[in-house]
Amino acid sequence: AAMKADDLREIGDLGAGNGGSVKKVTHLPTGTTMAKKIVLIDAKPSVRKQILRELHILHGCHDPHIVSFYGAFVTDPNVCICLEFMDKGSLDGIYKKTGPIPIDVIGKIAFSVLSGLTYLYDVHRIIHRDIKPSNILANSSGEIKICDFGVSGELINSIADTFVGTSTYMSPERIQGAQYTVKSDVWSTGISLIELALGRFPFAESSSDDSDLSDLEGTLSPARAGNLRMSLSMGLDQVERRPKKKTDKKDKRKSNGVSLQGGGMTMSILELLQHIVNEPAPRLTPEGRFPVESEQFVDACLLKDPDARPTPKELLSFQWMLDTKNKDVDLVAWTATF
Ligand code: ADP
Ligand code: MG
Repeated sequence: AAMKADDLREIGDLGAGNGGSVKKVTHLPTGTTMAKKIVLIDAKPSVRKQILRELHILHGCHDPHIVSFYGAFVTDPNVCICLEFMDKGSLDGIYKKTGPIPIDVIGKIAFSVLSGLTYLYDVHRIIHRDIKPSNILANSSGEIKICDFGVSGELINSIADTFVGTSTYMSPERIQGAQYTVKSDVWSTGISLIELALGRFPFAESSSDDSDLSDLEGTLSPARAGNLRMSLSMGLDQVERRPKKKTDKKDKRKSNGVSLQGGGMTMSILELLQHIVNEPAPRLTPEGRFPVESEQFVDACLLKDPDARPTPKELLSFQWMLDTKNKDVDLVAWTATF
C-alpha cells in the first residue's frame, strides 16, 4: 500500500540538515518505526510530482548496506521520504559521543560504505554524491548502512536552488567544476574515514600560513552562497578571498553557512575549498598509530587525481578490506557502548 501522511504518528526528532528535518514516526497500519525525512521543495507541484516519480527507483534498491525505503509522498510544500529507522543514528553523532572510533570498526564501516556504493553503481548506475558521516547510519544489530544518495535529479536541483548545497567532503575535481563520478564518492569516503579515526574533521587543523585567519568566522552569507555556486562552475581561482572582518552573530544564525572550527581556528568555506584543491590531501596520522594497510587504503581514496583514484569496487580488494573480512569485529557489542 502507498505511504500516506495520515498513517504516520510523530514520536520524536532525529535531526535536521541542509535540506530539511528528520522525524521518528510510527507507521500506524503496520506498527513499523520509520524515519520520515521532510524536504521543503520550493517549486511547482509538477516538480514535486516528478520528484516522487524519480524516488520510485528506491523501491528497487535492496542491499544490506543501503537504508531501506518505504515510500514517499507530497505534503505541500514538502516531499516526505520514509526510510528504515536506524536506532543508533549517524556516525557523526556517534563519534561526537564516543570520541575516535576504533580502527577495526572503521574497517567494517569502510567495507559497508564501499559495498553499498558498489551496489548502487553496478546495479542502478547511481552515484551517491553526499557521502559523509551523517549519511552513514548504524543500528543495534550492528549493521552499517548509507542513506541520502542522489536518485532524483529533480530533488538535487530543487535543494540546490533553495539551499547552499556545498559539502566540505567534496573532491578537488568537483570543487573545480568537474562532473560527479563514482570517484568523487571515494574521496568523500576517505575524508569521512579519517574524521572517524581522529574524532574530528580532518581539515579543521590549520596549517601555519593560515594563522592569520584565526579571527575569522567561517560563515557564508546568502549573497556569498550565490558567489560560491558560481565559483564552483567557474573554477575557484577566479573567486576573491572574503574580507577579513567579523560577521555579526545574528547574520550567522540566519545564514545557511557552514562554520568549521577546531583547535581554536576557523576556516571559511571558500578557504577550505581552496585548501582542498591546493594542499596535499589529509592522511591517517600520526604515522604508526594505525595499521599500514589502513594508511595505504585512505591514501588511495584521497589521490587528488580522480583517474589515479580507485573505484569503490577496486577498493574492496585492497589488503585492508581483505584483512577486515577475515576479522571478527563485534559490531553489536560496539553499538552497545553508546
Ligand atoms: P544531514 O545528513 O546533513 O545531517 P539530514 O536531514 O539528512 O541531514 O539528517 C539529519 C539527521 O537525522 C542525521 O544527521 C541523522 O542523525 C538523522 N537521520 C537521518 N536519517 C535517519 C534514519 N534513517 N534513521 C535514524 N536517524 C536518521
Ligand atoms: Mg543526511
